[in-house]
Amino acid sequence: RFISLEGGEGVGKSTQIKRLAEALRARGHEVVETREPGGSPGAEAIRKLLLEGEAERWTAETETLLFAAARADHVARTIRPALARGAWVLTDRFLDSSLAYQGGAGGVGEAAIRQLHAIGSGGLLPDRTLLLRLPAESAAARASTRDGGAGDRIGGRDASYHARVAAAFEALAAQEPERFRPVDASGPAGDVTERILAALADLL
Ligand code: C5P
Repeated sequence: RFISLEGGEGVGKSTQIKRLAEALRARGHEVVETREPGGSPGAEAIRKLLLEGEAERWTAETETLLFAAARADHVARTIRPALARGAWVLTDRFLDSSLAYQGGAGGVGEAAIRQLHAIGSGGLLPDRTLLLRLPAESAAARASTRDGGAGDRIGGRDASYHARVAAAFEALAAQEPERFRPVDASGPAGDVTERILAALADLL
């Protein structure tokens, strides 16, 4: 099974990936926890180009190509081999982040992003995508505990950019209700994990 967690900055995706992985391992499954950008040696090298440069180094179009290249390597080297041996793969972000950030917020066309995904990654889609939702203020408060307060690891983005990201995620979820499940990410971490497991119940 292939599961992605999506959402804006500071919604708790990395905490929930760890908790979900533990719950699945306790049920006897092999679980691979991974993330984007990154998740394979080549994609981690591209991650450095994306996240360690100065703010606004890349245009939205260049960003799109780098994320698509990182994803292609991640899919080929990590995700497909794990799925082939029957493991569960849990990824912190996937294609939908490109559609929301570079697409909805950055202005790059959705069809172009999907075509790059078809070319680079064979169009692979998660069996389920959990959209973690938190009011913007709570997410900002959580995100401010890292990266010197910016939350976003890529600099030069304002609140309106992040509002467009959130709106784009909602539109994607409405477009594909079978694959997406919105999850309330507020409250104690254990409660959120329970909601996530409930959203995966038909796959377990
Ligand atoms: O660890 P986290 O997922 O928060 O870090 C990834 C960073 O890359 C975030 O700051 C996010 O805004 C950014 N990102 C992006 N476009 C994507 C995926 C991630 O701008 N497609």
